Amino acid sequence: GAKREGGGRFRFFEPGMQLRVQARRQLEEDLRRALEKGEFELHYQPLVNLAEGSVGGFEALLRWRHPQRGLVCPDEFIPVAEAMGLIVPLGRWTLARACADAASWPQPLRVAVNLSAAQLADPALEETVAAALAAAGLPPRRLELEITESLLLRDTEDTIALLRRLRASGAAISMDDFGTGYSSLSYLIKFPIDKVKIDRSFVLAMDERPEGAAIISAIAGLCRTLGIVTTVEGIETPAQRRQVAGQGCTEGQGYLFSPPCPAQAIPALLERWECLVCPGG
Ligand code: C2E
Ligand code: MG
Ligand code: MG
Ligand code: MG
Repeated sequence: GAKREGGGRFRFFEPGMQLRVQARRQLEEDLRRALEKGEFELHYQPLVNLAEGSVGGFEALLRWRHPQRGLVCPDEFIPVAEAMGLIVPLGRWTLARACADAASWPQPLRVAVNLSAAQLADPALEETVAAALAAAGLPPRRLELEITESLLLRDTEDTIALLRRLRASGAAISMDDFGTGYSSLSYLIKFPIDKVKIDRSFVLAMDERPEGAAIISAIAGLCRTLGIVTTVEGIETPAQRRQVAGQGCTEGQGYLFSPPCPAQAIPALLERWECLVCPGG
């Protein structure tokens, strides 16, 4: 390695670096095997209609059941899976699993699946989506595809065309984490989208100062004009729920309603919902 000692000289291998490189390699190897060994699972979090308190569907959130580390959250492994090109096969598994799970839910309930940039760039994406729906026997209108706005910055024309085709096939397109990237309200007009998910950071801002609430109501107002559904992420308190409902947002998602839970827990969750109409209301 490039290792030079002495004042002002660089050391290519810093202490601890070897360990980091090794830990990263180990993580990549574990990840590759995890897909083969079936260590991934999907947890589901309800999307709640704010006016009615009813569940309209669930977002599928990926988890890794690591044999030593227990349940690992996506922020810890998705960036690595993306960097090593594993996200395309992993995303294919996720789409298939989510559609299969959703097919067992009561009729109108939808499932929302997150897509990475590499999946949108994959020429086989449309085929993958169609195959997942067909294998599960799930009508396309029960599938939502969540993409982030950063993803819309590149290849604008190609991306618009792809989103149009996916939409024409019947699936809905959601713009996830809206407001976090280089977002521009003009995206809402430029891109063919059905739903905007307003990032949790605006809910936190709303608690802190009145301008936070003004941003949410401005986004909600524009979306209403454009016929776009709004979902507010990270609703944790009844006060937050009341406020965003009052600003005209359509849907909410957050710990107030339910944390993400395993697929097996969904029937009980829906039953409880029918009784209470709306927990935490
Ligand atoms: P996201 O799509 O914005 O998902 C919402 C995240 O917020 C989830 O984190 C969820 O557990 C968390 N959350 C929900 N309600 C609350 C709340 O009331 N308070 C707080 N503080 N957090 C809440 P999670 O499951 O750790 O996922 C993190 C991110 O990982 C997701 O953000 C998504 O971008 C990505 N991700 C998850 N599953 C997949 C997947 O299958 N494929 C891809 N490409 N990305 C995924
Ligand atoms: Mg999402
Ligand atoms: Mg989100
Ligand atoms: Mg997010």
